[in-house]
Amino acid sequence: MSTSNFKNKCVTQVNCIYCDSLLCTRGMKAVLLADTEIELFSTDMPPNRTVDFVAGCYSTESCKCKLRDIACLKCGNVVGYHVVAPCKPCLLSCNNGHFWMFNSEAVSTINRLDASGLNLLLWGDLPELEGSEDESPDSLSDEEYLR
Ligand SMILES: [Zn+2]
Ligand SMILES: [Zn+2]
Repeated sequence: MSTSNFKNKCVTQVNCIYCDSLLCTRGMKAVLLADTEIELFSTDMPPNRTVDFVAGCYSTESCKCKLRDIACLKCGNVVGYHVVAPCKPCLLSCNNGHFWMFNSEAVSTINRLDASGLNLLLWGDLPELEGSEDESPDSLSDEEYLR
């Protein structure tokens, strides 16, 4: 299956193309199965205060995933979408756990380098995310910490 294969993909830094603010540092180049013309960058980590949801959930014609657009928090331009609730076929086929997508036309990306600065940083080199807890409690305590 394709799970081992994504470890050989470069880790990319994703910036908003409109205002150049950093959106996420764990991006992966992905291609939509349905439409290979569209280039996307996906991430497994909810972007932390760099994007916000716009409008409500919707789904596309190709499947029953529930999607929600995300916009750059700084400039307000839509930069991608979040898969709020993946449909069964998608959950089974794309199991790399990436449910945040950036549209390649709305972002600029840079391949990250490893600690030596000589080699491209690959997904296989990244430390595993600590048993991904549900997103919200974490960001709440974060907020309190700042005050
Ligand atoms: Zn922006
Ligand atoms: Zn789907």
